[in-house]
Amino acid sequence: MKKLIFLGPPGAGKGTQAQRFQERYGLVQLSTGDMLRAAINAGSDLGNKVKDIMARGDLVPDDVVVGIIAERIAQPDIKAGYILDGFPRNVAQAEALDEMLCSRNDRLDAVIELRVDKGALLGRIETRAAATVGGAREDDNAEALSKRLEVYNAQTAPLVEYYGHRGVLKTVDGMQDIDQVTHQIETLLEL
Ligand code: ADP
Repeated sequence: MKKLIFLGPPGAGKGTQAQRFQERYGLVQLSTGDMLRAAINAGSDLGNKVKDIMARGDLVPDDVVVGIIAERIAQPDIKAGYILDGFPRNVAQAEALDEMLCSRNDRLDAVIELRVDKGALLGRIETRAAATVGGAREDDNAEALSKRLEVYNAQTAPLVEYYGHRGVLKTVDGMQDIDQVTHQIETLLEL
């Protein structure tokens, strides 16, 4: 069972790659962003709690996402493994994940960092917003987007060092085309 993290800024291609690995290898994509958006669409208490925070591009409280992930990774449908996409997003979440795994006598196999030029991100997200059927994401506007990038640089980017120290980090050039990125990840994971 493979336990992976795909790490990178908004627009790096984490979701696209995670979906491919789900299709090809049955690794379940666990996207906290998708789960939170589903809660908002369902109109649940949790959704109402996070709606405004997400719309402005801030992080939702750690206990919310840690709770969601703890519950999800314990489900029996996860057989081949999972890919965490969008979690952890800061050091506190990474530490909570370490504890979660440790208490299950488990550990991460790899953290795949998708490295992309800062200048390319804005264009990628604008393209995604324009291509989205049924309306763009509420946080794909210029203001929320620059907030998301700022939050990434301040809070999430330090995880590169965090996992680098633990010897599980593998870096991929996310500026290559989608197939090349997939291939490089497959090679790194020996799939
Ligand atoms: P992207 O990576 O393109 O910014 P996501 O779908 O991963 O988009 O996340 C969208 C929003 O969901 C984030 O800006 C944040 O508000 C919230 N979110 C997702 N994952 C987390 C997390 N692990 N911790 C806190 N907030 C999160």
